[in-house]
This record gives sequence, structure tokens and C-alpha cells, in this order.
Amino acid sequence: MDNESHFLCEAIALAHKNSQNGGRPFGALIVKNGEIVSTGVNEIIATNDPTAHAEMTAIRLASRKLKSPNLQGCTVYASGHPCPMCMAAMRLAGVSAVSYAYSNDDGAPFGLSTAAIYEDLAKPFAEQSMTIRYVRIRLEGQPDLYADWKRSQDERL
Ligand SMILES: [Zn+2]
Repeated sequence: MDNESHFLCEAIALAHKNSQNGGRPFGALIVKNGEIVSTGVNEIIATNDPTAHAEMTAIRLASRKLKSPNLQGCTVYASGHPCPMCMAAMRLAGVSAVSYAYSNDDGAPFGLSTAAIYEDLAKPFAEQSMTIRYVRIRLEGQPDLYADWKRSQDERL
């Protein structure tokens, strides 16, 4: 079995175990240079944290272990198709690649697909199901938030 298949089998095994413990059937692991950096399972039922997806849990642990918010060179192996939140988190963290074993089509008959959210997010803001408003407010008599941040960054160099 190749490495990719091996790590995906591990992600599925984690998902199985989580499911048997009353959790949702999702597991993930993060690998760097052939070594497992972290693993995660879906903990949203146990923690009431809607962001505690397997990938997010694994990302949080990997970042802590590597002492960096940058996960460049890491590959995520997920049992299921990552949702938009996890996909975005991986992109923001600089994760280099992701592989998953169960597609949204595989999950759809069981209510485990996030395809509808991907479709909604691809629409212009005005057409999405969640109300999204840009309200250009600025604090009077205060330096601009972003310009002030940039200035403080430059001063640290
Ligand atoms: Zn997710």
C-alpha cells in the first residue's frame, strides 16, 4: 500500500473509532516529511464547538506542536471531503496538499455532504442564504485600524 492510501486508512480508522464513541464519522491526520504531526476527530457533539471538525482539531494540534501558524510542507489526510471552513483553514495555514477518502457524493445519502454550502458560498454575497453586509464604519479621532497596525509592524522591524 502506498503512503497516501496508508494515511487515508488511518484517517478512516480514527473516524470509525470516533463514530463508535458517539461522535461524527470524521478523522484526519497531518503529515510532514513522512511523519504524523497530529491527528484529529470530529468533536462537535462532545464539545458543542461547531468548529471542532477533524481537520480543524488536527490543525490546532499541529500548529501548537510545530510552534507556528504556518503549516507549509504539511499534507492533510481526511476521511471525508473537507467542508469549506476546513478547506479555508488549510489554505490560510499554508497546508501544501489534502487527500480525502469519502467524497461529498459518498456522504450525501447520509446527510454528510457539504456540497450545498460550497454552492452557496460560490454565489455573490447578495444571493447567499446568510445575510452579509459591508458597513463602512470608522472610529472618529482614531488612527485608521489597518494603517495603524501596518505602522506598528514596520516599527518592529
Ligand atoms: Zn470541516
